[in-house]
Amino acid sequence: MGKKLINGGEEGLEKENLNLLTSTQIVIKDALKKLGHNEEMYSLLSEPARMLAVRIPVRMDDGSTKIFSGFRAQHNDAVGPTKGGVRFHPNVNEDEVKALSMWMSLKCGIADLPFGGGKGGVVCNPRTMSSGELERLSRGYVRAISQIVGPTKDIPAPDIYTNSQIMAWMLDEYSRLRKHGSPGFITGKPLVLGGSEGWQKAGALGVTICIEEAARKCRISIKDARVIVQGFGNAGSYLAKFMHDAGAIIIGISDVYGALYDPDGLNIEYLLSRRDSFGTVTTLFDGTISNEELLEQDCDILVPAAISNQITAENAHNIKAKIVVEAASGPTTLEATRILSERGILLVPDVLAGLGRVTVSYFEWVQNNRGYYWSEAEITQKLREKLVRTFNHIYETAQKGNVDMRLAAYMVGVRKMAEAAQLRGWV
Ligand code: GLU
Repeated sequence: MGKKLINGGEEGLEKENLNLLTSTQIVIKDALKKLGHNEEMYSLLSEPARMLAVRIPVRMDDGSTKIFSGFRAQHNDAVGPTKGGVRFHPNVNEDEVKALSMWMSLKCGIADLPFGGGKGGVVCNPRTMSSGELERLSRGYVRAISQIVGPTKDIPAPDIYTNSQIMAWMLDEYSRLRKHGSPGFITGKPLVLGGSEGWQKAGALGVTICIEEAARKCRISIKDARVIVQGFGNAGSYLAKFMHDAGAIIIGISDVYGALYDPDGLNIEYLLSRRDSFGTVTTLFDGTISNEELLEQDCDILVPAAISNQITAENAHNIKAKIVVEAASGPTTLEATRILSERGILLVPDVLAGLGRVTVSYFEWVQNNRGYYWSEAEITQKLREKLVRTFNHIYETAQKGNVDMRLAAYMVGVRKMAEAAQLRGWV
């Protein structure tokens, strides 16, 4: 099943452009080795425990029927039920869903949540589908995976191109199948259906908290820190706003078409007001630079918040930031991670910077189980406490083990899962 591991450990770092599954496996292998686990443990954790592939027939608006492919992967449930989003995207494929379920295991382990990792995906293009078609697809997906999901089994949530409305349809379909209400089946729901305050902003808030902690370690004051954010989508734009509100100077932003850079600071409020719903804004201006050029500009904090493989062996030597915080998934290759670390640049990895949403998802699930709901201020406070503690734990693990923050995060992420599997007698 899946791709073969390319020489785990240091040799593996030579390889650039590894696919997500392979590079995740390499770091898991390194982390398990550092923790003293054997090959059997690696064998257990290198692939999801369960992978369901489904075909979903959907009646389209023109009367035809289209069959969509979908997946749900459950990586490991030694610690608790599995948890993770559902992605609707034309490029969804089995390997990606598998790797993302492993990532969710790591994220849940890093944040010390009582979950293992899961992930789902449907191969489709929501931009070309009507609301009715999306609703039928969402309901069909839940019917197809209903046997393996549930509030104590596997709890879905939004991911790329899925949102609270889609969660509402999925919840409704699940409740109809089970013949009882069950808000804890899914998170990222609308507030009136048992969603949590603070969920929408949780992703950007999580990144912001990590930036603040990283800046503290590097003795950089957020006030007047010069920040570049690559990407002006949901994550990037909220983040630019949060950082601007905290007193940082945003000197660069970008979208898929290009980048805006001004060493004296950009007018973020204005850019936010002109941004379209796909996060495009640079096309309104002359004198833009490329995304590649943006990454190499002088700044204190660089936040890649767009797509993967942006910092590679090719440009890692030219990065001038003192701190790089990965708000996107996989923006820095493993070789680039090594180069940045050798150059003394503090890299906060995606599995740590990306904890905001799943942590608030956990709070949502807890609120659903108790039937008692917290205010936005309480959620923000709980998220901050958890992430500050998590950041510092990983920072100290990196210092003590003399490893970079990515490997430290993976070590923390697999530790509890491996211990739980051992105690259950699996390995
Ligand atoms: N898709 C989000 C993530 O990858 C949320 C997952 C969840 O809340 O379960 O972190």
